[in-house]
Amino acid sequence: MVSEHASPLATLGGVDAGGQNVHVAALAEHLARLGHQVDVYTRRDDASLPRVVEMRPGVRVVHVTAGPARALPKDELLPYMTELGDELAREWREHGAPDVVHGHFWMSGLAALRAAAVTGPPVVQTFHALGSVKRRHQRERDTSPAGRADVEAKIARTVTRVVATCTDELAELVRLGVPSSRVSVVPCGVDVTHFRPPRPDDAVPPLQDGRFRMLSVGRLVERKGVDNAVRALPLLPDVELAVVGGPAQEEVRDDPEGRRLWQLACDLHVEDRVRFLGRVAHDDMPAVLRSAHVVVATPWYEPFGIVPLEAAACGRPVVASAVGGMLDTVQDGTTGVLVPPRDALALARAVRSIVDDPDHAVGLGTAARRRAVRRYGWDRVAQQTARVYREVLSAGRVAHVVEEQAV
Ligand code: UDP
Repeated sequence: MVSEHASPLATLGGVDAGGQNVHVAALAEHLARLGHQVDVYTRRDDASLPRVVEMRPGVRVVHVTAGPARALPKDELLPYMTELGDELAREWREHGAPDVVHGHFWMSGLAALRAAAVTGPPVVQTFHALGSVKRRHQRERDTSPAGRADVEAKIARTVTRVVATCTDELAELVRLGVPSSRVSVVPCGVDVTHFRPPRPDDAVPPLQDGRFRMLSVGRLVERKGVDNAVRALPLLPDVELAVVGGPAQEEVRDDPEGRRLWQLACDLHVEDRVRFLGRVAHDDMPAVLRSAHVVVATPWYEPFGIVPLEAAACGRPVVASAVGGMLDTVQDGTTGVLVPPRDALALARAVRSIVDDPDHAVGLGTAARRRAVRRYGWDRVAQQTARVYREVLSAGRVAHVVEEQAV
């Protein structure tokens, strides 16, 4: 696997460390459990990192020097992808190429294609996010390198197979001119052993200071729409909002999005009901999710959205925007509620319907857990991914003619 900015070893909840890191770590782990050897190549962003870290049996994380050995925003990494691709090619010449290369995020796809050029291994590509969608929603605030969407379309047409994580992404790829026959849909997964429901006797969490808890988890960036949850609070006087990811309460004013949300809460006179809990170690996330009466995820757009799946696996009802991967993962009225994005009133109504009816909440949570286990367990997702690898391998080795301007 190539995951240029998202190391499976990174601390989560920072601006550039979220679902992709979790996905790469879990997919690698579960492929290894199926008996495969997985090497994850990621950019060295700290000079003190060892070249190779054995993450767990069967999974090695290889830190590759490509650009300065310090943390850089992912949108500044494009100039170093040629170097990353050349380093991978050198490594594979010296130590042997893998059977399959799986690029994660568009820039890794470029590096993977460069390394695999001509007669190298087949390249499977997962975009995690598409530039065309980002540009549509973020417009001039999109800091992606110019031309990203065009390069992504070229990558999608050049790799052996694209793995889209949801049907909405497949539709977008088809709109970009990628034949659907080149795309397999395999979702992100969730560790359903770690993310598990509460014991039956504490199926409904206790009130926090007499209030229901509405929980939002994720990187604290504007497009995650946490402001929507703040805006819903005046309509939900018996509900508090706990925000996980980004800064904790004492540092919230030092963070641009934290400051904006705090100001909004003060303007709406709900600041006493907003708690910024800061980053939470991924291992501790199930307990945090279980402390919530309802988990809300109301981004403007969402390529997949692992948090709603983690909440579902914990048996928690979710209110999510009807966008992206959540159209697949949240069954409206059965496992949670889908609402239009940027609609605080709809969010408030959905939360109200859940907190006012504990039996309904338990019913949604139970159905959510059942569906998460049936469809999204990582062991199952890793098997589906391995099936894609087998398919591309059985199709024989292919020549990747990398278009110069794409690199
Ligand atoms: N996460 C975490 N600690 C935090 C914030 C987030 O472990 O403080 C994890 C969260 O549990 C989830 C991932 O980061 O596994 C976020 O993935 P998601 O797909 O929801 O959002 P993304 O960050 O990819 O936009």
